[in-house]
Amino acid sequence: MPKAIDMHVHLPTSSWLDVAIQPYRVPAEKFFRATVPTREMEEVARLYEELDILGVLLAWDAETATGLAPLTNDEVASIVRRYPKQFIGFASVDPWKGKKAIIEMERAVKALGLKGAKFHPGIQAFYPHDVHFYPLYEKISELGVPALFHTGTSGLGAGMPGGMGIKLDHTRPIWLDHVAADFPKLTIIGAHPAWPWHEEMLAIIQHKSNVFMDLSGWSPKYLPKVIVDEARGRLSDKMLFGSDYPFITPQRWLADFEAVTAAAGFSPETKVKILYDNAAGILRLV
Ligand SMILES: [Zn+2]
Repeated sequence: MPKAIDMHVHLPTSSWLDVAIQPYRVPAEKFFRATVPTREMEEVARLYEELDILGVLLAWDAETATGLAPLTNDEVASIVRRYPKQFIGFASVDPWKGKKAIIEMERAVKALGLKGAKFHPGIQAFYPHDVHFYPLYEKISELGVPALFHTGTSGLGAGMPGGMGIKLDHTRPIWLDHVAADFPKLTIIGAHPAWPWHEEMLAIIQHKSNVFMDLSGWSPKYLPKVIVDEARGRLSDKMLFGSDYPFITPQRWLADFEAVTAAAGFSPETKVKILYDNAAGILRLV
């Protein structure tokens, strides 16, 4: 059993950085104040092995909204097949592709062995609670895998004119509350601390047993205090480690998590829940 599960790992490959998110790459590097070198997945697999972390790799298809070629589910699946101890994969389907998206979602899980779905309502430019997309959620719920949705402001487009067309309203967590209410069997993970709507997100994970949040994309040092307090307390079963690699490395996230949780007096059990147990439950590894 690995020491931790990183719920949020992007591929630092050319297929993601130079193709699927190409125009967003440089502004995102500025936002995260880190240059992000292109790497081969072999190197990433070695890093995750050394750190004893199981990483959840995320595919990417925002083709309708961005016109950019996707990082395909097949590519993610082939990496998982090469490094089955180090990675599992979440599919991405472009919700605007309608029936094709539903068919692809089913293929990604049943034929490719991917274990969840990843959405970015900001980049994919859709409101998660629009009933137009409900047949897709119906399928994901039927497949019995979780759906991860980006929430809160985005490093992609940050600091650019018009935020490069990305509308933050799409990323509000409250829209996921509708989906969670209408699909009680669907496990939903809000990705990132959902800033500036983090209290909205905390209300949802407190109210809906089928909703969780990952803490990726922010060093734990900068998490709003209310998130740290809830993670130590009543919502310790609802929060998950995620790095948002390659923008934040798991080494940095884990080191900052150690410092923050030591200062805030987290019990060892609570830390294990956030680093491993909660995700293992969602991914049915236990
Ligand atoms: Zn991300």
